[in-house]
Amino acid sequence: MASLDPSDANAASSSVKPAQSASNPDRPNRRDLASTFLEQVNHSFEEAAAYTDVPKGILEQIHVCNGVYHMTFPLQRDDGTIEVVEGWRAQHSHHKLPTKGGIRYSLTVSEDEVIALASLMTFKCALVNVPFGGAKGGIRIDRTRYSKRELERVTRRYAYELYRKNLLGPGLDVPAPDYGTGQPEMAWILDTYNMVAHGHLDSIASVTGKPVSQGGVRGRVEATGLGVYYGLREACRQSDDMAKLNLSTGLDGKRVVVQGLGNVGYHAAKYLHEGGAAIVGIAEIEGAIHDPNGLDVDAVMAHRKQHGKILDYPGAANIADSDEALTLDCDILVPAALENVITRDNAHLVQAKIIGEAANGPVTARANDILHDREILVVPDLYLNAGGVTVSYFEWLKNLSHVRFGRLGKRFEESVNREMLEAVERLVDQRFEPETIAQVAQGPGEAELVKSGLEETMMAAYDEIREVQRQHDDRIDLRTAAFIGSIDKVGEAYAQLGIFP
Ligand code: NAD
Repeated sequence: MASLDPSDANAASSSVKPAQSASNPDRPNRRDLASTFLEQVNHSFEEAAAYTDVPKGILEQIHVCNGVYHMTFPLQRDDGTIEVVEGWRAQHSHHKLPTKGGIRYSLTVSEDEVIALASLMTFKCALVNVPFGGAKGGIRIDRTRYSKRELERVTRRYAYELYRKNLLGPGLDVPAPDYGTGQPEMAWILDTYNMVAHGHLDSIASVTGKPVSQGGVRGRVEATGLGVYYGLREACRQSDDMAKLNLSTGLDGKRVVVQGLGNVGYHAAKYLHEGGAAIVGIAEIEGAIHDPNGLDVDAVMAHRKQHGKILDYPGAANIADSDEALTLDCDILVPAALENVITRDNAHLVQAKIIGEAANGPVTARANDILHDREILVVPDLYLNAGGVTVSYFEWLKNLSHVRFGRLGKRFEESVNREMLEAVERLVDQRFEPETIAQVAQGPGEAELVKSGLEETMMAAYDEIREVQRQHDDRIDLRTAAFIGSIDKVGEAYAQLGIFP
């Protein structure tokens, strides 16, 4: 594996010790799981690459990870003791710059995991026509064991380590939230960048997923979950595909089980519910709940906040082993927690007819084959959770232009719309209600523009994947189709770049 800096050659190939799963010694250890995830991404790439005309050398270049940086640094805990913290940043492809990808805080983080995730980012960005190369970072910590101040120290030090290796900046590499991180971490990264790169005009574009008060864009927090909703809505709109699954067309009345009630899972569940689906099961770390009549997602969130668990939610049945929720009777299963949750061990037990990969890599390569044989429709992560990076792209554009979307045109559009409505009133000799005029006339604000940009992106990308599938007489699955389209785009970029001597 190439290091980003010659002086890091040893660090990059660090000795990460395999660790046994703490909860279940029979389960594969962390390193095995991360390797499985990387193997799965590699497997998907290789399968799709066979269908493309991209020359062999360029294919190899597209496949490999361009660089990965491994770091360790000391953290002083609040009680004065010192702990060594381990982190990574992988930049998978430099065919477009900056590179882009989230930062994950989890005990599963490893070199293989960040490479797999960075690689997915390259193909995800290409798929939704977002002009970034793929990257991903992570710190191996269980964030629940640390105070807010300790997390701030870890985040700032991590950002500083990236900066001093030229791995952070609006034109270099732009992080975003992922599992275990959110707006506070992004705000600390921005502040750290501002401290070291003071006076840089575009420094605000060095990280996305920031709070709106720190240059974030309205709609970023919910973007990935909303994208999951748009993606599943598109999948359910395909009447020929739904007929094959013996399901009605459209989301209305579909029974959904969601695993993980974090940023992505919560918003996906909320929008799916609003879109007419019934959330019949929710799984979290502490266990799962099931109600065939449907759960109120916000009420479940409030219950978890109050009691520290989703279990014992009024009217729902408890399921002690959270993994069992993956095999509940439902139409759509939405794994929105972590990778490798549907494996060869449980793929044959899945009852859902559609799996929406809201998380990255929830279905292993072997499980994917089993699900394919069982004719279960898998809507792949590469596509389905691309809403996050799409809206991060909008945030980056907003930051580079230093103006809020809609600010210049809103009033003007509103007055033009009012004039048009008044002309219609004169024509039909009838007055509209003032509320109707206000509603119809108002120009779009930032939130509306972001939402419609995301919707358009997810709809267009679904059409693109489905078209590739049709070109192959529906013999390939959606994941392979998504990879084929993305490999072609990255291949074209490399071909036009030429090879640097
Ligand atoms: P998050 O930390 O906000 O939420 C994850 C949730 O999953 C947590 O509530 C956690 O308790 C729960 N969880 C963990 N293990 C579980 C298990 N075994 N069973 C049930 N629940 C479990 O993370 P997130 O940002 O929502 O990310 C979730 C997934 O989506 C990850 O795979 C991430 O890479 C992917 N993703 C996130 C974004 C984003 O914008 N945040 C974008 C694209 C992809």
